[in-house]
Amino acid sequence: MTDKYAVFGNPISHSKSPHIHHSFAEQTQQAISYTTIAAPTDDFADSLSQFWQSGGCGANVTMPFKEQAFALCDQLTEEAQLAGAVNTLTKLPNGEIHGDTTDGFGLVTDLQRQFGHLKGKRVLLLGAGGAARGSILALLNSGIASLCIHNRTMSKAEDLAQIFTRYGEVSANSLIEPQTAFDIIINSTSASLNGQALTLPPWIIAQHTVCYDMAYAKETTAFNLWAQQHNAAQTSDGLGMLVGQAAKSFQHWRKVMPQVEPVLASLRQQLS
Ligand code: NDP
Repeated sequence: MTDKYAVFGNPISHSKSPHIHHSFAEQTQQAISYTTIAAPTDDFADSLSQFWQSGGCGANVTMPFKEQAFALCDQLTEEAQLAGAVNTLTKLPNGEIHGDTTDGFGLVTDLQRQFGHLKGKRVLLLGAGGAARGSILALLNSGIASLCIHNRTMSKAEDLAQIFTRYGEVSANSLIEPQTAFDIIINSTSASLNGQALTLPPWIIAQHTVCYDMAYAKETTAFNLWAQQHNAAQTSDGLGMLVGQAAKSFQHWRKVMPQVEPVLASLRQQLS
């Protein structure tokens, strides 16, 4: 029987995950099926349980179920424990469910692919929601010099800085006092999804600064437009992060790391 995988979310019909995982399967010559499952918002656990009973081998989980999926895991990676959420579930041979969050891997590998190593970089992370929380450990483990977190609701940035303080140089930053510009600025707020620009002080950006928006769209995102207007050295959206996080999920399930670039190129073409 073909091994069964799925992505759970609500809404989920827009998901690019089936295309990505079928492309990975074709590339690595594996036979899998991968579907979308729109679980009822009040009955995710039952929907997931039915999937396992029907022979499901692994699943991705997206909004709004990442925290509920976390609570249903028997085993968790350190990254998932710190994130308090998972996007990748794997049914182990003993029947237990293993959970990981692969967003941080997707982000860091995409930054490295495009901008080179991250060693010694001063990084500013905008936003303190789920995507930020799931990415901080991978950023700190990548060798960056420091991570400042800025958020509209500053108490959330302070909470994250507190959680991750034992893993590296991390602080919450109000961006009120002018300081040295950052090497890398990552936008993890959902403002770009609504086309909203953030109100940011110009001193955070210098001519060498690279800017990365986790959101992706056909057009340049509002944050990347702002960065370009302030002469950022390079800008990128988060499409590569999306494919990278999927690659890590695929590796969990199939024990082989697929190539990101060809799948990213085909998705980019579809988007445009
Ligand atoms: P959450 O809802 O958990 O967090 C949203 C964050 O955005 C909060 O920090 C919130 O601030 C901030 N925010 C929202 N609107 C505004 C605004 N108008 N001005 C300033 N700040 C704002 O969302 P996620 O963390 O799950 O997702 C965030 C983004 O990351 C989305 O665009 C999502 O598509 C993208 N993403 C991309 C991935 C990829 O693979 N490329 C993977 C995961 C996420 P406050 O706390 O003050 O409300």
